[in-house]
Amino acid sequence: MGREIVDYLHQADFSVVVQIAFLGNFLLFFLSITFYAVVHYLYNSKQELVERHPILKADIGNAILNISLNAVIAIAGIYMLRIGWIKIVDLDWMVFPIKFLGVLFLVDFLMFILHWLVHKSFLYRYFHYRHHTFERTNALSLFVMHPLENVMFGVILVIVFTLISCDIFTVGFYLGFNLLWGILGHIGFNLFEFKNRWITNGLFHMNHHHDIHINFGFYTSIWDRLFKTHRES
Ligand SMILES: [Zn+2]
Ligand SMILES: [Zn+2]
Repeated sequence: MGREIVDYLHQADFSVVVQIAFLGNFLLFFLSITFYAVVHYLYNSKQELVERHPILKADIGNAILNISLNAVIAIAGIYMLRIGWIKIVDLDWMVFPIKFLGVLFLVDFLMFILHWLVHKSFLYRYFHYRHHTFERTNALSLFVMHPLENVMFGVILVIVFTLISCDIFTVGFYLGFNLLWGILGHIGFNLFEFKNRWITNGLFHMNHHHDIHINFGFYTSIWDRLFKTHRES
């Protein structure tokens, strides 16, 4: 089945690729905010949930711009696949976990370095500050950022998938995992009460929003522990 999907991405009319990219990204956006709303509805009475940031018109506009940019990045990725810059290999179940963890580890490291750099330089004021207008989060927080930051993340993904040739399922699984991790990181509390010394949970990134000097990591706390920027709460 993986081969059929890749062949389709190679052969489909480019206008269809554009439509799929936009529809897919806006559908994921809709599912994300629905998930956020349902979780908050279910847990509101059970937990002392943190106050939420109000939904602002400017944030809706910014989120829509970023979802559109995600679609453009996806189209660019498919174009690179067509011209052979990104190679999609056949699925090998024995290699799948190694490749998935390899992508995760590499993105985690590159994102930590870049996240740390934007906080420690003039770039914070010009780019990253937009995402940190949320000391408290809401359903849009994950998607609200300076558009250049979004492009930067897209470039990292393209670099990683160029360096590590993956099958289409690893790519899809990673993108789904990344979205889920992003949602859980901005939901405002530790939804699954998950605790692990090396893997981040819902509170890890929330603590970064409360205190911009700590917890720069994404999926793991390895780099924060190494660079002594990790704090539990
Ligand atoms: Zn930050
Ligand atoms: Zn955030």
